[in-house]
Amino acid sequence: MHRISFAILRSENAASYLPNALSPHPLQGTTPQPWRGNDARKIMDVELVTVAQKLELRFPYLRGEKNDQRMAHDFLERLIGDGSKCLQKKDGDKWICDTGRLALLEKADGLLLSWGNRGSHSFDLVRPEATKLIDSCEQALEALKCSGCGKPLWFADAAGAEWVQCQCGELRWRYGKG
Ligand SMILES: [Zn+2]
Repeated sequence: MHRISFAILRSENAASYLPNALSPHPLQGTTPQPWRGNDARKIMDVELVTVAQKLELRFPYLRGEKNDQRMAHDFLERLIGDGSKCLQKKDGDKWICDTGRLALLEKADGLLLSWGNRGSHSFDLVRPEATKLIDSCEQALEALKCSGCGKPLWFADAAGAEWVQCQCGELRWRYGKG
């Protein structure tokens, strides 16, 4: 069982990796085929669990296994909400909120809400929508990496573990400020 990734969603034989896939993947070929936004959302669900752990995001306690059923939107909502105080980039000798990165997270969240939460059997995205959704999700994950050193926000602990930062120290996430 391959773990589904955006690379697989873009690949020629994506359909063979996707459970219940009904049609050739729309990113290939010339005829737009319906496509399922849920597949992109499921990737984000998994990726964002790791992000939430690394950044020590705090969530309200839910009963029982609901704590393990958070989806992409729950994580993105928290990241965006906390990000205004926690996600910072260096600006000379100051730290400022990285609003450009937050905007990428917001965009992906909006598209996932529109296109990634439909019934698991609905294949109703056409190719331009699918491309836009996948691009936006990838950009949101990239936004959590430093464009200078290429390392994620949580690469290194620094300054008494009040925050984590990338390798070069241009980008950081302050714990517990959200
Ligand atoms: Zn860096």
